[in-house]
Amino acid sequence: MLLVLLSAPFVSAQFYGDPPDDHHPWAVHDNNRPQPPQVTPGKMPGAPPSDAIVLFDGTAASFKANWEHEKKNRKSDWQVIDGAVQCAKNAGTIRSKAQFADCQLHVEWSAPAKVQGSSQGRGNSGIFLMGATEVQVLDNHNNPTYPDGFAGSVYGVMPPAANPLRAPGQWQSYDIIFRRPVVKDGVVLDEGSFTVLINGVVVQDSTPLEGGGGHRGRSKPRAFPEKGPLKIQDHGNPVRFRNIWYRPLRKRSVEGGTDGKLSVEATMAKRAEIAANLRKDAATKKGKEKLLRLLESLCYEVDDEAVSVAEEEGEAFMAEVKAKPEGRKGDVIQVNNAVKYLVKHERMPSDHAAIDELKALIKANGWDK
Ligand code: MG
Repeated sequence: MLLVLLSAPFVSAQFYGDPPDDHHPWAVHDNNRPQPPQVTPGKMPGAPPSDAIVLFDGTAASFKANWEHEKKNRKSDWQVIDGAVQCAKNAGTIRSKAQFADCQLHVEWSAPAKVQGSSQGRGNSGIFLMGATEVQVLDNHNNPTYPDGFAGSVYGVMPPAANPLRAPGQWQSYDIIFRRPVVKDGVVLDEGSFTVLINGVVVQDSTPLEGGGGHRGRSKPRAFPEKGPLKIQDHGNPVRFRNIWYRPLRKRSVEGGTDGKLSVEATMAKRAEIAANLRKDAATKKGKEKLLRLLESLCYEVDDEAVSVAEEEGEAFMAEVKAKPEGRKGDVIQVNNAVKYLVKHERMPSDHAAIDELKALIKANGWDK
């Protein structure tokens, strides 16, 4: 039965799933939607995929090209040693030259194998997204501390859900998915979030930022800038970092993205754009193909001019088939299905003359059997 359905000439993704509505510019299963971009994954887990922006690849040249020390007057610099960049005491924070916001970020780090200090004093550093909100880096292997300051915590906001750290001296991986807060005219539209995996284990799961956290003070929701650098903290411990890359994330609907649930205004603007593109495409086609493209555009936007062009094209199609019906069964069934879909979803009036006309044509030729 499935095979029969798939091979039937009138089955297509158009006029198929529920049409666009007030909050979704795309139909369900909409083939007019752009295909997801092709990304080639990294060769090994943790390796940068093809669309990643690499901030540190283990070489001194890569460090120099992508990072700068925040402090102008300092006695030491972070050092690139054996494929890793190591924090030097009093060198201060380093920041990426690249500025970005929402991202998937990969970082690997290693706390000193020689254990020194305790609590927040052992293998402490930190990954600051946009320079503003810290995912804690800390050697918490057999080292208790306040939970909202643990490795993988959103510092001062949320403890990690688990502690999957390896022993100091070993490499730990962080995979971070970050969304900045979106605030418009003082209204928080999205408070932003962190998802964090340590060594493949989820420790933050869409954790709301609640302002981004900080030391001792409870943070409150606040606006973030559009972009900011990635910063890595100097907390006085020689923590090492390697394999740092990020990928920007697609825009959320609150930032102008057109996937997912949108405002009515944004939905209607996008629907009009899709309809205009379909009508432009229809103008390059002829006959049934042109008619179907025009009918399809009505799923997104019912526009007087488009309706009258579709009417004209529909009448021409009917006249052509009536004059020579041989071999036109598939075409007529296809157009009939499109019309039935448009009527069902209130894009065409249910008493439109084309409905009975198509029905009569199908019956007269025995195509309903
Ligand atoms: Mg820290």
